[in-house]
Amino acid sequence: MASVQTFSGPRDPAQIGVTLMHEHVFVLSPELDLNFPHPEWDESEAVERAVAGLEALHSLGIRTVVDLTVLGLGRDVRLVATVANRVSVNLIASTGYYTGTALPLTFQVQGPGRLIDGPDALVEYFIRDINDGIAGTGVRAGMLKVMTGKDGITEDVARVMTAAAVAHQETGVPITTHSHPGSRNGLDQQAFLRERGVPLKRVIIGHSGDTEDLAYLRALMDNGSTIGMDRFGMEHVLSDDRRVGTVVALVKLGYADRMVLSHDAAVFSRVTPPSWRALAVPNWQMENIPRRILPLLRQAGVSEAELEQMLVTNPMRLLTPTAHEPTVG
Ligand SMILES: [Zn+2]
Repeated sequence: MASVQTFSGPRDPAQIGVTLMHEHVFVLSPELDLNFPHPEWDESEAVERAVAGLEALHSLGIRTVVDLTVLGLGRDVRLVATVANRVSVNLIASTGYYTGTALPLTFQVQGPGRLIDGPDALVEYFIRDINDGIAGTGVRAGMLKVMTGKDGITEDVARVMTAAAVAHQETGVPITTHSHPGSRNGLDQQAFLRERGVPLKRVIIGHSGDTEDLAYLRALMDNGSTIGMDRFGMEHVLSDDRRVGTVVALVKLGYADRMVLSHDAAVFSRVTPPSWRALAVPNWQMENIPRRILPLLRQAGVSEAELEQMLVTNPMRLLTPTAHEPTVG
Protein backbone atom coordinates (compact mmCIF):
# COMPACT_ATOMS: atom_id res chain seq x y z
CA MET A 1 0.00 0.00 0.00
CA ALA A 2 1.39 3.42 -0.95
CA SER A 3 2.17 5.92 1.80
CA VAL A 4 1.20 9.56 2.15
CA GLN A 5 4.27 11.76 2.55
CA THR A 6 4.16 14.27 5.41
CA PHE A 7 6.71 16.64 6.95
CA SER A 8 7.33 13.90 9.53
CA GLY A 9 7.75 11.10 7.00
CA PRO A 10 5.48 8.56 5.35
CA ARG A 11 2.08 7.82 6.88
CA ASP A 12 -0.34 4.99 6.33
CA PRO A 13 -3.29 6.59 4.48
CA ALA A 14 -5.59 5.29 7.24
CA GLN A 15 -3.80 7.63 9.68
CA ILE A 16 -4.59 10.79 7.71
CA GLY A 17 -7.92 11.43 9.45
CA VAL A 18 -9.85 14.69 9.24
CA THR A 19 -7.96 16.74 6.64
CA LEU A 20 -7.96 20.36 5.51
CA MET A 21 -6.92 20.02 1.85
CA HIS A 22 -5.91 23.60 0.96
CA GLU A 23 -4.20 25.81 3.53
CA HIS A 24 -1.02 27.84 3.94
CA VAL A 25 1.32 28.16 6.88
CA PHE A 26 3.45 31.10 5.69
CA VAL A 27 2.92 32.97 2.41
CA LEU A 28 6.01 35.11 1.96
CA SER A 29 7.66 37.21 -0.71
CA PRO A 30 11.39 36.52 -0.32
CA GLU A 31 12.73 39.44 -2.35
CA LEU A 32 10.40 41.96 -0.70
CA ASP A 33 11.02 40.38 2.70
CA LEU A 34 14.77 40.72 2.23
CA ASN A 35 14.65 44.36 1.21
CA PHE A 36 11.53 45.67 2.92
CA PRO A 37 10.71 43.39 5.86
CA HIS A 38 7.01 43.47 6.67
CA PRO A 39 6.34 45.16 10.02
CA GLU A 40 3.99 42.35 11.07
CA TRP A 41 6.49 39.57 10.32
CA ASP A 42 8.61 38.27 13.15
CA GLU A 43 9.88 34.79 12.31
CA SER A 44 10.08 33.31 15.80
CA GLU A 45 6.76 34.84 16.81
CA ALA A 46 5.17 33.52 13.61
CA VAL A 47 6.50 30.02 14.33
CA GLU A 48 5.05 30.14 17.85
CA ARG A 49 1.70 31.32 16.48
CA ALA A 50 1.69 28.52 13.89
CA VAL A 51 2.50 25.89 16.54
CA ALA A 52 -0.22 27.15 18.89
CA GLY A 53 -2.76 27.41 16.05
CA LEU A 54 -2.08 23.90 14.72
CA GLU A 55 -2.19 22.40 18.23
CA ALA A 56 -5.56 24.09 18.75
CA LEU A 57 -6.74 22.57 15.46
CA HIS A 58 -5.69 19.14 16.68
CA SER A 59 -7.77 19.58 19.80
CA LEU A 60 -10.72 20.37 17.48
CA GLY A 61 -10.26 17.04 15.70
CA ILE A 62 -8.20 18.06 12.66
CA ARG A 63 -5.47 15.50 11.98
CA THR A 64 -3.87 16.64 8.69
CA VAL A 65 -3.31 19.99 6.98
CA VAL A 66 -2.08 20.26 3.38
CA ASP A 67 0.17 23.30 2.90
CA LEU A 68 -0.26 24.36 -0.72
CA THR A 69 2.39 27.06 -0.54
CA VAL A 70 4.39 26.33 -3.68
CA LEU A 71 6.98 28.29 -5.65
CA GLY A 72 5.70 31.78 -6.36
CA LEU A 73 4.19 32.03 -2.87
CA GLY A 74 7.45 32.10 -0.91
CA ARG A 75 7.62 28.41 0.01
CA ASP A 76 10.10 27.87 2.86
CA VAL A 77 9.93 24.21 3.81
CA ARG A 78 12.89 24.49 6.19
CA LEU A 79 10.95 27.05 8.24
CA VAL A 80 7.64 25.16 8.12
CA ALA A 81 9.52 22.02 9.23
CA THR A 82 10.39 23.79 12.51
CA VAL A 83 6.63 24.12 13.02
CA ALA A 84 5.79 20.60 11.85
CA ASN A 85 8.31 19.05 14.25
CA ARG A 86 6.43 20.55 17.20
CA VAL A 87 2.79 19.81 16.36
CA SER A 88 0.49 16.79 16.51
CA VAL A 89 -1.25 17.35 13.17
CA ASN A 90 0.34 15.94 10.03
CA LEU A 91 1.50 18.69 7.70
CA ILE A 92 1.86 17.87 4.01
CA ALA A 93 4.14 19.85 1.69
CA SER A 94 3.46 20.51 -1.98
CA THR A 95 5.23 21.39 -5.19
CA GLY A 96 4.22 23.34 -8.26
CA TYR A 97 4.32 26.94 -9.40
CA TYR A 98 1.83 29.67 -8.61
CA THR A 99 1.47 32.05 -11.50
CA GLY A 100 -1.61 33.16 -13.40
CA THR A 101 0.40 34.95 -16.05
CA ALA A 102 4.15 34.54 -16.60
CA LEU A 103 7.04 32.69 -15.00
CA PRO A 104 10.13 34.61 -13.79
CA LEU A 105 12.77 35.78 -16.29
CA THR A 106 15.00 32.73 -15.72
CA PHE A 107 12.33 30.51 -17.27
CA GLN A 108 11.92 32.87 -20.22
CA VAL A 109 15.61 32.49 -21.05
CA GLN A 110 16.05 28.83 -20.15
CA GLY A 111 13.99 25.87 -21.30
CA PRO A 112 12.76 24.12 -24.43
CA GLY A 113 13.29 26.36 -27.45
CA ARG A 114 14.68 29.22 -25.35
CA LEU A 115 18.03 31.02 -25.62
CA ILE A 116 19.58 28.48 -23.27
CA ASP A 117 17.86 25.48 -24.80
CA GLY A 118 17.24 22.35 -22.80
CA PRO A 119 14.67 20.35 -20.92
CA ASP A 120 12.20 22.25 -18.74
CA ALA A 121 13.70 22.57 -15.25
CA LEU A 122 10.19 22.65 -13.79
CA VAL A 123 9.74 18.97 -14.57
CA GLU A 124 12.98 18.09 -12.79
CA TYR A 125 12.14 20.35 -9.81
CA PHE A 126 8.65 18.94 -9.31
CA ILE A 127 9.80 15.31 -9.55
CA ARG A 128 12.78 15.94 -7.26
CA ASP A 129 10.51 17.57 -4.65
CA ILE A 130 8.23 14.51 -4.73
CA ASN A 131 10.80 11.71 -4.94
CA ASP A 132 13.84 13.07 -3.07
CA GLY A 133 12.49 15.86 -0.89
CA ILE A 134 12.45 19.65 -0.93
CA ALA A 135 15.60 21.78 -0.68
CA GLY A 136 17.65 19.18 1.15
CA THR A 137 15.15 18.82 4.01
CA GLY A 138 14.08 15.30 3.10
CA VAL A 139 10.46 16.53 3.26
CA ARG A 140 8.75 15.03 0.22
CA ALA A 141 5.90 16.83 -1.53
CA GLY A 142 2.56 15.05 -1.31
CA MET A 143 0.66 17.15 -3.81
CA LEU A 144 1.17 19.09 -7.04
CA LYS A 145 -0.41 22.51 -7.49
CA VAL A 146 -1.06 24.53 -10.61
CA MET A 147 -2.89 27.78 -11.16
CA THR A 148 -5.13 29.22 -13.83
CA GLY A 149 -6.37 32.72 -13.14
CA LYS A 150 -8.75 35.02 -14.97
CA ASP A 151 -6.33 35.23 -17.92
CA GLY A 152 -6.82 31.52 -18.57
CA ILE A 153 -4.14 29.08 -19.68
CA THR A 154 -1.40 31.47 -20.79
CA GLU A 155 1.81 30.16 -22.39
CA ASP A 156 3.57 29.94 -19.03
CA VAL A 157 0.54 28.56 -17.18
CA ALA A 158 0.49 25.84 -19.85
CA ARG A 159 4.19 25.21 -19.19
CA VAL A 160 3.55 24.73 -15.46
CA MET A 161 0.52 22.51 -16.09
CA THR A 162 2.44 20.39 -18.59
CA ALA A 163 5.28 19.91 -16.10
CA ALA A 164 2.77 18.96 -13.40
CA ALA A 165 1.14 16.43 -15.73
CA VAL A 166 4.54 14.80 -16.40
CA ALA A 167 5.36 14.79 -12.68
CA HIS A 168 1.97 13.26 -11.91
CA GLN A 169 2.55 10.48 -14.39
CA GLU A 170 5.99 9.79 -12.93
CA THR A 171 4.91 9.84 -9.28
CA GLY A 172 1.14 9.30 -8.96
CA VAL A 173 0.88 12.34 -6.66
CA PRO A 174 -2.47 14.15 -7.10
CA ILE A 175 -2.81 17.56 -8.75
CA THR A 176 -4.79 20.37 -7.16
CA THR A 177 -5.57 23.57 -8.98
CA HIS A 178 -6.23 27.18 -8.24
CA SER A 179 -9.06 27.89 -10.65
CA HIS A 180 -11.14 30.95 -11.49
CA PRO A 181 -14.75 29.79 -11.28
CA GLY A 182 -15.95 33.20 -12.56
CA SER A 183 -14.75 32.14 -16.00
CA ARG A 184 -15.58 28.44 -15.38
CA ASN A 185 -11.98 27.64 -16.24
CA GLY A 186 -11.89 24.48 -14.12
CA LEU A 187 -13.30 22.87 -17.28
CA ASP A 188 -10.34 24.19 -19.29
CA GLN A 189 -7.96 22.81 -16.66
CA GLN A 190 -9.64 19.42 -16.91
CA ALA A 191 -9.43 19.37 -20.72
CA PHE A 192 -5.77 20.41 -20.65
CA LEU A 193 -4.72 17.84 -18.04
CA ARG A 194 -6.79 15.04 -19.56
CA GLU A 195 -5.12 15.62 -22.93
CA ARG A 196 -1.80 15.15 -21.18
CA GLY A 197 -2.77 11.81 -19.71
CA VAL A 198 -3.86 12.82 -16.20
CA PRO A 199 -6.89 10.86 -14.99
CA LEU A 200 -9.38 13.50 -13.82
CA LYS A 201 -10.17 11.51 -10.69
CA ARG A 202 -6.65 12.46 -9.58
CA VAL A 203 -7.36 16.17 -9.98
CA ILE A 204 -8.93 18.54 -7.45
CA ILE A 205 -10.39 21.69 -9.00
CA GLY A 206 -9.65 24.18 -6.24
CA HIS A 207 -11.57 27.29 -5.22
CA SER A 208 -14.73 25.85 -6.73
CA GLY A 209 -16.67 27.01 -3.66
CA ASP A 210 -16.29 30.60 -4.89
CA THR A 211 -19.23 30.02 -7.25
CA GLU A 212 -22.86 28.99 -6.79
CA ASP A 213 -23.15 27.78 -10.38
CA LEU A 214 -24.34 24.25 -9.66
CA ALA A 215 -24.39 23.20 -13.33
CA TYR A 216 -20.70 24.11 -13.65
CA LEU A 217 -19.76 22.37 -10.40
CA ARG A 218 -21.68 19.23 -11.35
CA ALA A 219 -19.98 19.17 -14.74
CA LEU A 220 -16.54 19.23 -13.04
CA MET A 221 -17.52 16.34 -10.79
CA ASP A 222 -19.31 14.38 -13.53
CA ASN A 223 -16.01 14.56 -15.42
CA GLY A 224 -14.45 12.70 -12.50
CA SER A 225 -12.70 15.37 -10.44
CA THR A 226 -13.14 16.33 -6.83
CA ILE A 227 -13.93 20.00 -6.22
CA GLY A 228 -12.31 22.10 -3.51
CA MET A 229 -14.92 23.88 -1.39
CA ASP A 230 -11.81 25.33 0.09
CA ARG A 231 -12.28 29.00 0.91
CA PHE A 232 -14.55 29.00 3.94
CA GLY A 233 -14.01 32.30 5.72
CA MET A 234 -13.12 34.23 2.54
CA GLU A 235 -16.27 36.24 3.00
CA HIS A 236 -14.84 39.12 0.93
CA VAL A 237 -15.38 36.81 -2.05
CA LEU A 238 -18.55 34.94 -1.00
CA SER A 239 -20.26 34.64 2.37
CA ASP A 240 -19.95 31.45 4.36
CA ASP A 241 -23.75 31.06 4.43
CA ARG A 242 -23.80 30.92 0.64
CA ARG A 243 -20.76 28.59 0.54
CA VAL A 244 -22.56 26.28 2.97
CA GLY A 245 -25.69 26.44 0.82
CA THR A 246 -23.77 25.23 -2.22
CA VAL A 247 -22.18 22.31 -0.36
CA VAL A 248 -25.56 21.30 1.09
CA ALA A 249 -27.23 21.42 -2.33
CA LEU A 250 -24.50 19.24 -3.87
CA VAL A 251 -24.54 16.77 -0.98
CA LYS A 252 -28.29 16.39 -1.48
CA LEU A 253 -27.62 15.68 -5.16
CA GLY A 254 -25.27 12.85 -4.15
CA TYR A 255 -21.87 14.50 -4.59
CA ALA A 256 -20.39 14.08 -1.09
CA ASP A 257 -17.84 11.67 -2.56
CA ARG A 258 -16.34 14.41 -4.76
CA MET A 259 -15.98 17.45 -2.47
CA VAL A 260 -13.27 18.42 0.02
CA LEU A 261 -13.47 21.26 2.56
CA SER A 262 -10.84 23.81 3.54
CA HIS A 263 -10.16 27.54 4.04
CA ASP A 264 -7.17 28.62 1.93
CA ALA A 265 -6.21 30.44 5.15
CA ALA A 266 -2.69 31.25 6.35
CA VAL A 267 -0.97 31.75 9.67
CA PHE A 268 0.83 34.67 8.01
CA SER A 269 0.48 35.99 4.50
CA ARG A 270 2.28 39.04 3.22
CA VAL A 271 -0.43 39.34 0.56
CA THR A 272 -3.20 39.82 3.13
CA PRO A 273 -1.43 40.54 6.44
CA PRO A 274 -2.85 39.48 9.82
CA SER A 275 -4.02 43.01 10.75
CA TRP A 276 -6.17 43.23 7.58
CA ARG A 277 -7.55 39.73 8.07
CA ALA A 278 -8.48 40.39 11.69
CA LEU A 279 -10.52 43.45 10.71
CA ALA A 280 -11.98 42.49 7.34
CA VAL A 281 -12.38 38.70 7.43
CA PRO A 282 -12.27 37.45 11.05
CA ASN A 283 -13.61 34.00 10.10
CA TRP A 284 -10.81 33.36 7.61
CA GLN A 285 -8.75 31.05 9.79
CA MET A 286 -8.34 27.31 10.15
CA GLU A 287 -10.71 26.87 13.11
CA ASN A 288 -13.63 28.16 11.04
CA ILE A 289 -14.69 24.75 9.66
CA PRO A 290 -14.65 22.85 12.97
CA ARG A 291 -16.16 25.73 14.96
CA ARG A 292 -18.72 27.34 12.59
CA ILE A 293 -19.11 25.47 9.31
CA LEU A 294 -19.61 21.89 10.50
CA PRO A 295 -22.46 22.94 12.85
CA LEU A 296 -24.10 24.82 9.93
CA LEU A 297 -23.77 21.78 7.64
CA ARG A 298 -25.24 19.51 10.34
CA GLN A 299 -28.15 21.91 10.91
CA ALA A 300 -28.85 21.83 7.17
CA GLY A 301 -29.14 18.05 7.27
CA VAL A 302 -25.69 16.88 6.17
CA SER A 303 -25.11 13.53 7.91
CA GLU A 304 -22.06 12.44 9.90
CA ALA A 305 -21.33 9.88 7.17
CA GLU A 306 -21.36 12.61 4.52
CA LEU A 307 -19.06 14.81 6.61
CA GLU A 308 -16.69 11.88 7.12
CA GLN A 309 -16.71 11.33 3.37
CA MET A 310 -15.68 14.94 2.62
CA LEU A 311 -13.23 15.35 5.51
CA VAL A 312 -11.59 11.91 5.74
CA THR A 313 -12.42 9.45 2.97
CA ASN A 314 -11.99 11.78 -0.01
CA PRO A 315 -8.69 13.28 1.25
CA MET A 316 -7.35 9.79 2.00
CA ARG A 317 -8.25 8.57 -1.49
CA LEU A 318 -6.78 11.63 -3.18
CA LEU A 319 -3.57 11.88 -1.14
CA THR A 320 -2.64 8.22 -1.64
CA PRO A 321 -0.32 8.17 -4.66
CA THR A 322 -1.48 5.96 -7.50
CA ALA A 323 0.81 3.33 -8.97
CA HIS A 324 3.47 4.46 -11.42
CA GLU A 325 1.97 4.74 -14.87
CA PRO A 326 4.84 4.85 -17.36
CA THR A 327 4.39 7.50 -20.04
CA VAL A 328 3.83 6.07 -23.47
CA GLY A 329 5.89 7.17 -26.46
ZN1 LIG B 1 -4.17 28.75 -1.61
